[in-house]
Amino acid sequence: MIAVCPKCEYQWETRAKGELITCPSCHRKFPRPAPVVKRIGTIDAGPFVRGECDSCGREVPATSLTVCRADGETALLCPQCFLKMAGN
Ligand SMILES: [Zn+2]
Ligand SMILES: [Zn+2]
Repeated sequence: MIAVCPKCEYQWETRAKGELITCPSCHRKFPRPAPVVKRIGTIDAGPFVRGECDSCGREVPATSLTVCRADGETALLCPQCFLKMAGN
C-alpha cells in the first residue's frame, strides 16, 4: 500500500498492519488509511464446501465468500467483512 503523509505529503510503500503508521520523513503518527477492497468474484463451490474468511477467520459456506483484492493482495472475505471493508 502506498501511504501519503497528511502533514508533509511524503509518499512511501508501507506494509504496516497496525492502526497507526509513522511517516519516515517527519515521524508523525497518523491512522492507517482503509485498504482499497476490490471485488474480483465469488467461489464456484458445492453447497457443502466451507471456507475461512481471511479477515475474521470465521468459517462460512465457501459460496458466500467474496474473492477480492485488498492492499494488492488477494483475500477471501465473508459478507460482513466485505461490507465493512468495502463500505469505507
Ligand atoms: Zn510526514
Ligand atoms: Zn469475515
